[in-house]
Amino acid sequence: MAAAPRAGEHVAVVGGGICGLAAAHRLARSGTGVTLLEGSDRLGGLGTFFPWRDRWVERFYHCVMPSDEHLLGLLDELGLRSSIRWSPTRMGMVVAGRHHPFNTALDLLRFTPLGLPDRVRFGVVTLLLRRLGRGRDLDAVRTEDWLRGLYGDRVWELLLAPLFGAKFGARFGDVPALYLWQRLGREGAVSVRGYPEGGYRAVVDALRASIEAHGGVVRLGAPVRRIGVGDGVRLELPGEVLTADRAISTLPLPQLRQVADEDLAPRLPEVELPYQGVVNALFFLRRPLSGHYWTPVVRSGTDFDGLVQMTPLAGVEPYAGRHLVYAMRYTDRGSALFAEDDAAVAERWTAQLLALHPGLGREDVEDVRVFRAPFVEPVYPLGYLARRPPVVVAGTPLLLATTAHVYPDVTSWNSSVGLANRVVATPAGAPRPVPG
Ligand SMILES: Cc1cc2nc3c(=O)[nH]c(=O)nc-3n(C[C@H](O)[C@H](O)[C@H](O)COP(=O)(O)OP(=O)(O)OC[C@H]3O[C@@H](n4cnc5c(N)ncnc54)[C@H](O)[C@@H]3O)c2cc1C
Repeated sequence: MAAAPRAGEHVAVVGGGICGLAAAHRLARSGTGVTLLEGSDRLGGLGTFFPWRDRWVERFYHCVMPSDEHLLGLLDELGLRSSIRWSPTRMGMVVAGRHHPFNTALDLLRFTPLGLPDRVRFGVVTLLLRRLGRGRDLDAVRTEDWLRGLYGDRVWELLLAPLFGAKFGARFGDVPALYLWQRLGREGAVSVRGYPEGGYRAVVDALRASIEAHGGVVRLGAPVRRIGVGDGVRLELPGEVLTADRAISTLPLPQLRQVADEDLAPRLPEVELPYQGVVNALFFLRRPLSGHYWTPVVRSGTDFDGLVQMTPLAGVEPYAGRHLVYAMRYTDRGSALFAEDDAAVAERWTAQLLALHPGLGREDVEDVRVFRAPFVEPVYPLGYLARRPPVVVAGTPLLLATTAHVYPDVTSWNSSVGLANRVVATPAGAPRPVPG
């Protein structure tokens, strides 16, 4: 490969999100020559950041969970585990324009959108949900069938479908119940969340430094336009062709299909997953909205269906004294909202945020930024455990490490790091240190 840092086997890692960074870090540390190719001019993928004043701010809200064992293990290696600031966080809920705290049994008892019997049922079933799913083949059960049966029609229609459906849109009911069950295991009753000191940029910078310190090469502005396989892997970039002994692609499968050459394309996994994208607006506010970290917004006339306020988690210091609030809507990349221009989204969502919080005035909104991403959540079909694509593209030196592979784990930095560890450790992907 052109930029080979050393003689011996060389691996190209395509994509500089957390999965590619973690894989390249692990390969480089084991003595394998590695070149990471990131198409954009910044590392971090969906967890990336942008300059705001003299700060760096994440485009999309991100937090660490205490159960994020793979990510925390990686942070340990980088000497960053103790940089995670853990904070107890609280959840709110806005239903039909009314704000409700949603944390304790008392909050639930006072939660008037549901009748009293449904509130009690909601509380009891939620407490038992993880246990009720144990030993069942939830991969073969539609989420809607499972939850409607347990919670009843009203709770499903009023609360659960809009709440959990936010991630998958209309298709949420069809996603295997196993996904939700896993998600409850990750988030469960956890109210403590973490945020790295220096933001996610600090983690990305440390990974890059580690890769380079171990002889790896990190290239930005290096979009792979074509991939072909033979004895090795051939990667076409604008104006150059690179070769590697093996490659790990972290691109979402639809994007990989677009760059696979005619020989590779038919060998790629057949599974055709729809993907949900996201549109999200960041509000830099002069005053806090509420003490809640996460607030789903249900049937309240807004285009966004949730708010994440960073102040309870990260404080205001990372945002130059401002209160950072993310408003998000998961949506198909073909939707009208996804195509709408940033200024229009910013204007309309600001008006909707103000309508939802009458105490907030235009003068409190210092800045609004809009970001979107086309491939965030694969919409898993029933029985996906058996259809999950293998990480090795059979008969080729190409390995895959994508969000389509992390199921039934929730897509997160943690699951991507776990996947990177797994791919690097598979026989075809295991590091082969240079002899001598
Ligand atoms: C709104 C939102 C909130 C989230 N909240 C959390 C959270 O709180 N906690 C958490 O852990 N996770 C969260 N996530 C999920 C998390 O960000 C993702 O699961 C994770 O970042 C996926 O990493 P990845 O490396 O697999 O893919 P990606 O981050 O998508 O990385 C793929 C990379 O490949 C690059 N690329 C694409 N095409 C090419 C090409 N042709 N050549 C070279 N490079 C290319 C892209 O630019 C990108 O950098 C959130 C995501 C979103 C969108």
